[in-house]
Amino acid sequence: MIKRKLKLINNKILETPEFIPSLTSIKRYDNYFDLLYYLTNQKITHFMISAYDLYYLKTEIPNEIYNQISNSNGLCFMDSGGFEIYTGVFSKNWNNDLLIKTAKEINSDIVVSLDKICVNPKNSFLEDLSNYNIMRNRLKDYQQFYEIVIHGKHISTIRSFLDNLEIDKKLLAICIPERNLGNSFDIRCENLKTILHLIKEEYGFEELLFHLMGCSHPLLLKKYAELGVELFDGIHWQDSLFIPTKTDFTDLSRLMDINCSCRYCYKLRDIRKINKKDFENLYMYYTLSHNLFHFKELMKNIRSGQA
Ligand SMILES: [Zn+2]
Repeated sequence: MIKRKLKLINNKILETPEFIPSLTSIKRYDNYFDLLYYLTNQKITHFMISAYDLYYLKTEIPNEIYNQISNSNGLCFMDSGGFEIYTGVFSKNWNNDLLIKTAKEINSDIVVSLDKICVNPKNSFLEDLSNYNIMRNRLKDYQQFYEIVIHGKHISTIRSFLDNLEIDKKLLAICIPERNLGNSFDIRCENLKTILHLIKEEYGFEELLFHLMGCSHPLLLKKYAELGVELFDGIHWQDSLFIPTKTDFTDLSRLMDINCSCRYCYKLRDIRKINKKDFENLYMYYTLSHNLFHFKELMKNIRSGQA
């Protein structure tokens, strides 16, 4: 486990290993605004949102929420929208200019980008690298960091990428999507170890954080953190229920069956005794609060070696 406390140049603090709850319009479009409002209104320490969603939904997002995101004291990670553009719900014409415009406007702290490495065979590696240089130079003036996403597990691809990568202080992390590491947990761990060794030992990029994208199962967070993963993000805080005693998930509807004694469960049990209708209406609010609270506790315990 690599424990670190980083002070970013805008004075915000990032402690690792850390989990960042993320939000995308693809999975839960029907209640996207409720969840966005929830994430920002709860003053969650860190969150990740898609630049693509924010750009195309801007006219529908109430000003107060938009302002809340851009003035947040927490760390705002902005995903480039590479995931959402595959479905192209709003438009297929997403590009770097729109991404940088949105990052600037929302005042995000960290931009997570360069999704096209190894995805589209029509794009040559060097074309992708020039995208990276453009991004880096254009974001420089806005005090924003970035992370690079590598969509591949093949060591030769990662090696050729690292060979050509110009590291500067603005590059915060290298990310690899969890699913790209393989199908089974064993193989994922094997590939992860090889990749981490390559980046940190062989190339000596010790300061760069390693971010495993799309990973939010509590038990896996713990295991991957032991192997040296420093950042995680994922969407399951909104569709599964965290069972703290087992470091596991169950169905979201079962909050009252898991005997949790956190303050949110405590309060919801009281509400249930008094008014069934209020209980039903407030159920999601308390359940998501329970989830985020336990993710926070889990990461705190991982950092202190008590998980
Ligand atoms: Zn609880």
